[in-house]
Amino acid sequence: MRFIENQPLDRLNTFGITARARFYAAPESEVELARFLRSVTARNLPLMVLGGGSNLIFSGDFPGVVLQPALTGVACIGESADHYLVEAAGGEKWHDFVQYTLACHWYGLENLSLIPGTVGASPIQNIGAYGVEIADHLHSLTAMEIASGEVREFSREECRLGYRESVFKQELRGRYIITRVRFLLLKAAAVRTGYGDIRQELADHGIVQPTPRQVADAVIAIRTRKLPLPSVLGNAGSFFKNPVVAAGKLESLRQHFPEIVAYPQGEQAKLAAGWLIEKAGWKGRRIGPVGSYNKQALVLVNHGGATGADVMQVAHAIQQAVLQMFGVQLEMEPQVYGPD
Ligand code: FAD
Ligand code: NAP
Repeated sequence: MRFIENQPLDRLNTFGITARARFYAAPESEVELARFLRSVTARNLPLMVLGGGSNLIFSGDFPGVVLQPALTGVACIGESADHYLVEAAGGEKWHDFVQYTLACHWYGLENLSLIPGTVGASPIQNIGAYGVEIADHLHSLTAMEIASGEVREFSREECRLGYRESVFKQELRGRYIITRVRFLLLKAAAVRTGYGDIRQELADHGIVQPTPRQVADAVIAIRTRKLPLPSVLGNAGSFFKNPVVAAGKLESLRQHFPEIVAYPQGEQAKLAAGWLIEKAGWKGRRIGPVGSYNKQALVLVNHGGATGADVMQVAHAIQQAVLQMFGVQLEMEPQVYGPD
């Protein structure tokens, strides 16, 4: 059991930022993970958990230990009349896991196809796409406390999943490593095709009553067309969350911007952050190596050689432009790691 020293992180983050970790390890079992944790706490080093690196920005070299759990395995561990209880290890690739569930006829995750990253990271921001989020299917998870190495179970309620949020991004930030996640998946297909892009894609192929596999294929086709491939153009997906504002705020915005894209949520409304950024003049615009993607303004991209500082400069400029034009504060979605 040894740490690798001075590990390059360039290929371990989808934005392609050049950075190094002072120490790095990719434990393959829970026993190994616990041993590494003991060693980290004994040395009193800062620690960060890395999944697929698709929702974070390195602001510089990481001065401590980067642990990238490489735990694998997927199994159906129970069933009821309507559901299968499926457990996946934290190091499994999310997209591969979703495709495996579909091959097994375990339904529910089809809209979440082609999201990069790992199963272990999926509860952190309650990943979601096309009207489905893992909160719809999460049963419970197992996590190891970093300080003590103790293993704890979290029920779905204890994860406190919200809109791209969970307890692991709030008061338990940086305190646990998620090792296993359990999902309640459906025996009978119940496809969700409410998003316009999915409806259009299915209609273009003459599909009227889609199967979950066909919905997954539609999602994969749309995303392949619309989103930059990180291996070609570095990015971290949507860079900002869609802001949720009071219904009154939306009404006043509508007076100035009648075409504003918004979705009611009870007393509140979700604004499409991509539309705000485009309207503020930032779609396709760049400063140096970092810019907003020309096909989807909400995605910031690395045109080559970007540093964390370059990314933050553009992020702040966009936040400022949107605040000035709409009085709305955009909140970053990826988490930032580096020297403090
Ligand atoms: P990382 O980026 O490695 O880590 C993210 C955070 O989770 C960090 O704070 C890290 O410390 C923590 N973490 C990672 N693994 C663990 C673990 N095992 N235990 C505890 N903490 C952990 N997100 C969506 O919600 N919907 C989308 O549709 C979507 N599309 C995307 C498309 C593209 C092209 C890209 C690049 C990103 C997209 N994302 C999307 C964002 C991202 O893929 C997800 O948030 C994903 O869950 C991040 O997983 P990861 O393993 O890469 O996590
Ligand atoms: P889109 O379909 O062009 O829609 C733009 C925005 O409007 C989305 O952010 C979405 O909110 C919202 N929206 C659209 N139709 C809606 C409906 N029927 N009901 C409620 N809200 C609706 O978005 P896109 O950029 O191509 O992304 C498609 C999906 O993939 C979205 O769900 C998006 O969240 C997800 N995605 C996420 C990331 C990420 O990194 N987080 C990256 C790429 C794509 P929501 O975002 O709340 O769904």
